[in-house]
Amino acid sequence: MKCAVCGQRDAAVMQRHTGRALCRECFVNDIVSRVRKEVVSFNMFSGNDRLMIAASGGKDSYVLLDVALKLHDPSKIGVVTIVEGIEGYNRLEDVEKVRKLASVYGVDVVVLSLKDYVGYTLTELVSLGFSKNVKVSPCTFCGILRRKAINEVARGLGYTKVLTAHNLDDEAQTIVMNILRGDLFRLVQTLPNGPILSKLFVRKVKPLRKIYEEEIAVYAHLIGYEFQTSDCPYLRYFPSLRARIREYLYKLEREKPGVLLELINRVDTVLVKYVSHYANYPELPRCAICGEPTAYGRKYCMACELLMMLGIKPSYNLRSHINVG
Ligand code: SF4
Ligand code: ZN
Ligand code: ZN
Repeated sequence: MKCAVCGQRDAAVMQRHTGRALCRECFVNDIVSRVRKEVVSFNMFSGNDRLMIAASGGKDSYVLLDVALKLHDPSKIGVVTIVEGIEGYNRLEDVEKVRKLASVYGVDVVVLSLKDYVGYTLTELVSLGFSKNVKVSPCTFCGILRRKAINEVARGLGYTKVLTAHNLDDEAQTIVMNILRGDLFRLVQTLPNGPILSKLFVRKVKPLRKIYEEEIAVYAHLIGYEFQTSDCPYLRYFPSLRARIREYLYKLEREKPGVLLELINRVDTVLVKYVSHYANYPELPRCAICGEPTAYGRKYCMACELLMMLGIKPSYNLRSHINVG
C-alpha cells in the first residue's frame, strides 16, 4: 500500500486516529508539524527562550528531545534528568541514550540524583516511610521531589521554559481526573499558557500533549530508540484513580479512534476563557524552610513536609552536584 500523504513511498505505519497509512518520512513529518502547531498556537516557546527538557530517559523524553532539536536552536536547549535511586530499577542506561543524542548536538545534560539533592535515594525514603508507618505512596515522594528539583535546576541555570514529555494519553487522564474532582484551577493549569502563581516557577510546557503515546512509541522506534523492558518496582503504588481512568480511556479510544484528541481540543477551547480569571491571584507564599513556593495558607512546601514526616531535616543541595556535560 502506498502512503496516503505522498502517494510515492510504501506505507509503514497505520495512524489509527486519522485512519491513514503513512510512510516513515510522512509519519515523522506529521508528528513534528503537529507539535510545531501546538507550540505556536500556545506560544509555548519562541526564538529567545532557553529550553530545559525534563527527561526521564524513557521513550517520551527521547522523542521530545529529538523533536525539540528540530524546532529550536540546539545551543538554547539543555536536558535535566533526576536519578531517583530505585533499587532494582536502573535508569542509567536510559539516561545514557538521552545523553548520546544530546551530545551529537552539543546539548548540556544535567544529572542530579535524589541522594545528592536531599541526602536519600527514593528507596531509602520509601523504607523510612514504611518503618514509620507513613501512608504516602512512593510516587508522591518521587513526583514532588523531582518537580521541585527540576524547577530549581532550570531556574538556577537561567532556563526560561521547562519542557516535559507528557503525551496525549497523560493529558486526557489529567483532564478527566480533574473534572471528576471538580478542580477548575488544575484543569486550567493543563493549558500551556495557564496561570503561574509564583515568580519562582519556571513555566512548564508539554509540547507532546496532542500526540498519542502509541504514536510516540512508533516515532521512537523509527528514529532508532532501543526500548528497555524493566518497569519501576513502585508502579503498583501508582495512584489508583489515574490507573482506572487510563484503562477506561484506552477502551474508549479503541472503540472510537480520535476521541481523546477531540476531548482535549474541546476542553482547551472552554478552558482558555478561564485563564484571565486567575491573573490577579496573589503570589504564592514561600516555604519557611527552603524558601520555595508553597500553597496558600501553608507554612511549608510539600517536599519539606514529606521529609519532616520521615524525621528528616530538609536541606537541598543543588549547586555543588550539578554536572553540566
Ligand atoms: Fe517514581 Fe512512581 Fe514513576 Fe516509580 S512509578 S518512577 S516511583 S512516579
Ligand atoms: Zn509518504
Ligand atoms: Zn520547603
